[in-house]
Amino acid sequence: MPDVKGRVLQTTGSWYVVETPSGQTFQCRLPGRFKLEETKTTNPIAVGDHVTINTETGSGEMVIEDIEPRKNYIVRQSPRQKHYKHIIAANIDQALLIVTVSQPRTSLGFIDRFLVAAESYHIPVTILVNKMDVLREKDREKLNEMMEIYPALGYPVITASAEKRVGLEDVSALLKGKTTLVSGHSGVGKSTLINAINPDLNLRTKKISSKWEKGMHTTTFATMYRLAEDAYIIDTPGIKEFFVIEIEPSELSGYFPEMREKLTACQYNNCLHFTEPGCVVKAAVENGEIAYSRYENYLNILENLQSVNYWERL
Ligand code: GDP
Ligand code: ZN
Repeated sequence: MPDVKGRVLQTTGSWYVVETPSGQTFQCRLPGRFKLEETKTTNPIAVGDHVTINTETGSGEMVIEDIEPRKNYIVRQSPRQKHYKHIIAANIDQALLIVTVSQPRTSLGFIDRFLVAAESYHIPVTILVNKMDVLREKDREKLNEMMEIYPALGYPVITASAEKRVGLEDVSALLKGKTTLVSGHSGVGKSTLINAINPDLNLRTKKISSKWEKGMHTTTFATMYRLAEDAYIIDTPGIKEFFVIEIEPSELSGYFPEMREKLTACQYNNCLHFTEPGCVVKAAVENGEIAYSRYENYLNILENLQSVNYWERL
């Protein structure tokens, strides 16, 4: 078999599932000569990587021969080696954050943390409000608040009901031609939505049903699915780790678009927008230009970052 290009759909540590353009999947190995050139990462190949595969001379086994440079990638801290990172997924075009206003309600704090992480990776985000069919009158206010805050910052908000199959065309249109990281708290209807768009995927059961995977030690952090002919989605079960602690406290406001544009006007150029005098960010919060919830969540994240760095320095 000649060299074939493909995309890594799943990794288990020692095996890699690679899909070729024709839709065939191959279980591949990584030859020992692949070095961890990227410093301080625990895995050389990640879900979403574009690779070249071939049969290793004589063995008949498929191996990954080459990897194309990544457009981007998201990482989490390695669970075992503190100063190493694990690449969760690569070559992501956009993120779809699924949230709910009721049953259960996704907090704005969760949303803002996700948005900061996505900003730090330069990944555009669309927020999808699911379960619109169970929206009560008193939840409207919360939805309106989201509609007021996020689209103005460059994060479109769309609505759907996966269960009632409402709004699915908009989601399909959004995903077309892209690789999308699909995230959200568990219970927001992620699987229902994905299965509604493509029933063949049968998410949730599919992961353990493949014959080659049975009994294999799976340390899967992310799985990629071909949702439609030209749409891939990346599903990350442990999305909490997406909230990397890599950001310096002084850089945090740069990941809030509405603060980013004002930063240079603060009296102190290392302003944390907390208690400093002459802070234009605080002034913008006071006059309502910046949503209070955004500022509040900024302060919460800042506090987290500071405590993490504090422990790191000890
Ligand atoms: P996941 O954890 O995000 O994958 O969530 P699931 O897809 O498993 O859905 C969690 C629960 O929410 C299930 O009981 C679904 O039937 C329900 N659900 C999903 N989408 C909707 C929706 O649009 N409306 C309503 N009312 N329930 C939904
Ligand atoms: Zn300031």
